[in-house]
Amino acid sequence: MKHIYNFSAGPAVLPAEVLQQARDEMVDWHGSGMSVMEMSHRGKEFMSIAAKTEADLRELAGIPDNYKVLFLSGGASSQFAMVPMNLLRGKKSANYINTGEWSKKAIKEAKRYCAVHIAASSEDANFTYVPPQNVWNIDREAAYLHYTPNETIGGVEFNWTPDLAHLGVEMPLVADMSSSFMSRPLDVARFGMIYAGAQKNVGPAGLCIVIVREDLLGTTVPGTPTMFDYKTHADNDSMYNTPPTYPMYICGLVLEWLKKKGGLAEMERINIAKANLLYDFLDKTDFYHCPVGKADRSRMNVPFTLKDTGLDEEFLKQAKEQGLVQLKGHRSVGGMRASIYNAMPPEGVKVLVEFMKEFARTHA
Ligand code: PMP
Repeated sequence: MKHIYNFSAGPAVLPAEVLQQARDEMVDWHGSGMSVMEMSHRGKEFMSIAAKTEADLRELAGIPDNYKVLFLSGGASSQFAMVPMNLLRGKKSANYINTGEWSKKAIKEAKRYCAVHIAASSEDANFTYVPPQNVWNIDREAAYLHYTPNETIGGVEFNWTPDLAHLGVEMPLVADMSSSFMSRPLDVARFGMIYAGAQKNVGPAGLCIVIVREDLLGTTVPGTPTMFDYKTHADNDSMYNTPPTYPMYICGLVLEWLKKKGGLAEMERINIAKANLLYDFLDKTDFYHCPVGKADRSRMNVPFTLKDTGLDEEFLKQAKEQGLVQLKGHRSVGGMRASIYNAMPPEGVKVLVEFMKEFARTHA
């Protein structure tokens, strides 16, 4: 079988070792005679899988004891509503940083619950940069500040963590880390809450991980459904209802793989090398172009265009023939996008760059 390198933005490539292990354990998990899919979420087998997944996540990300880890369904998109429902805590407004399509979705949803104060935006330059913290105009009465550390569509990433204390502002920092979660070390204590859909760096679709500081729980906007109250899930170890059991199990395998790889610091080193390989090439040619400002380029999602957009279809066709798939940019922006999450091996990026060089040489 030809080797396929999958550059999809999500659901995305998973480590080959994880898929092989899942295959081997598919019909009989550890001699239980059952697939993980068939297990009761309250049985001791699955409880052990859930506990190990949480413990590995806590260890890898260094999650302090005063933070709850929740395994939810509903995708990161449900969090766009659950964040204001749970974190407004009687306040009337919330700060949002607008750096692209996913920020905009979070903002749109938050407006249903509160006044949204846009503390900074890069819309003036088509979302190709991150507004530096010294130009942020923060509503100090607001309940929290929400931002999107990595904009999956625009390929714009914060290579720094906002420092609200430095700005003399005291409020929880909330991050939609869907497309950069576990791709680099993180200091959880700097955040009030982090959420991430699993389907990019840590597992299959259907699971959303929430990490939230305990003292923020317990006050919801009137009318909040039980299932949308973080406290419901925190008080019940994410077992109030049936959690997405199989995605949690695969996530557990991905976390074990991450530990074997050397953890987040080592993952970051590999991710920097992969991203540099691609960006260095993009900067050296004028056949291709990356629209994002150098300092704010994403290590995970690399958007680029061909100077002659008439060649887009041919590029995608030939790439596919070489086993390089899912390179088409998001329908809202066009062009190309190579998503190079944790599970994309360095070899995949090398093969892509070689293909791009050859395509440029033969089509210049
Ligand atoms: N936020 C970001 C940054 C994303 O990339 C995505 C998915 N591409 C979402 C939110 C939405 O996630 P979901 O489809 O799991 O609701």
